[in-house]
Amino acid sequence: MLGDYKNYEPIIYRQMKNILNKNLSHAYLFDMNHNIYAEDMVLAFVKSILCKEHATKEEYDNCAKCKRIDDGNYQELKKIYPDGQFIKKEQLDELQKNFNTKPLESNYRIYIIYEAEKLNASAANSLLKFLEEPSFGIIAILLTNSVNSVLSTIVSRCQILKFSNNKIQDFIKNYNITDEVTLYKLSFTVFGISDKNNIEQYHRDFLDSVIKFINFYESKGIKSIIYEKEIFLDKFKEKKEIFNFFEFLILFYRDVINYKLSRNIMYFDDYEKLLNTVSLGNSVEKILNKVNILIKKQKLLKNNINTNMLLDSLIIDMENN
Ligand SMILES: [Zn+2]
Repeated sequence: MLGDYKNYEPIIYRQMKNILNKNLSHAYLFDMNHNIYAEDMVLAFVKSILCKEHATKEEYDNCAKCKRIDDGNYQELKKIYPDGQFIKKEQLDELQKNFNTKPLESNYRIYIIYEAEKLNASAANSLLKFLEEPSFGIIAILLTNSVNSVLSTIVSRCQILKFSNNKIQDFIKNYNITDEVTLYKLSFTVFGISDKNNIEQYHRDFLDSVIKFINFYESKGIKSIIYEKEIFLDKFKEKKEIFNFFEFLILFYRDVINYKLSRNIMYFDDYEKLLNTVSLGNSVEKILNKVNILIKKQKLLKNNINTNMLLDSLIIDMENN
């Protein structure tokens, strides 16, 4: 829900609200600036266009349309990722073919281009044509962390929105943190601790257990089911703790992708060796799969569910993909 980000990113929140209240233009370029909320916030913005702005969390949770958007089953939304090093012309041709007809489910159709700086010349040309002859109802959303590398012909045709600097980096700089960087970053993001002195042994133990679990799971695979209780569940039983455990894992596997694609490490700076090992043992697709499964299982925690069984099924599902 867009409102969730009101206090985190007030400026861009206001800009998005303005856009939603006025006429939408046909192309937006988001300078993500490595901001931790950027991707989720853009998706919330997209949902506000395709569905509506839900006033309450309950209403949002019960919305079948938003659920399908989240699950990637909504045909008026297409996401384009780089295919290897570049975004290729064929990917945009395919998109234009798909978007040739009138939208069925919404007044709008949206395509999101991730890492827009990776549009190669011919793909950019194809996109330019698409942008220059905007069909009614089609909205382009381009995302990038390096806006200066996006072709200027494309930038000039988009409305640009810039996220603020990464706040974790501010936190790290502010307290001059050079040791245990991962611990501080994760505590800041997941536990919401913004005062360095509030980090306790509990948070250290939590991170240690997560790392132990990853080590175990990545080397033993399905057999780690036997040990998960000993490693994690005996120490951290609360639902909120399990939720955070999933959050740590999601951020870890996202960092494995960052590592694999030679991008900046967001959280696990102190665990390069582990990132390397896991990166060698998994393809990008496999890691993306793990992240998706983790996100799905994490959502299930909202229901009344047996956490032991949830963890078992997590490992089984991750191994079956
Ligand atoms: Zn909805």
